[in-house]
Amino acid sequence: MARRTKSRARKMLSGRAFLDTLVQCPQCHSIDVVQYGKQANGTQRYRCNNLACPRTIFLLHYHDKGRLPAVKQQIVAMTLNGSGVRDIVRVLKVSSATVIDVLKKNNGPLKS
Ligand SMILES: [Zn+2]
Repeated sequence: MARRTKSRARKMLSGRAFLDTLVQCPQCHSIDVVQYGKQANGTQRYRCNNLACPRTIFLLHYHDKGRLPAVKQQIVAMTLNGSGVRDIVRVLKVSSATVIDVLKKNNGPLKS
């Protein structure tokens, strides 16, 4: 009986370690994440447990690049360097709706 509980504990530990090494929040790079249901197409969804992080739900592999923080930052950076919406669409290969969406929502860096 003692052996059974020990092996179960080890299994749980290794499962936790597996999650820690592979899954990271794309926004704050926290490893304090949990599995959080699935997308309609069956892709695993994750949730970031870091309270200071603005991102709550994320996926490991995004189908649409406009959801990635790196691409969003690039959109803001290109705008600050004088690129128009259609320039950004051509270079980053995201839709114009995505570019406008990101610029509307992103009012953080401009305030400070
Ligand atoms: Zn996070």
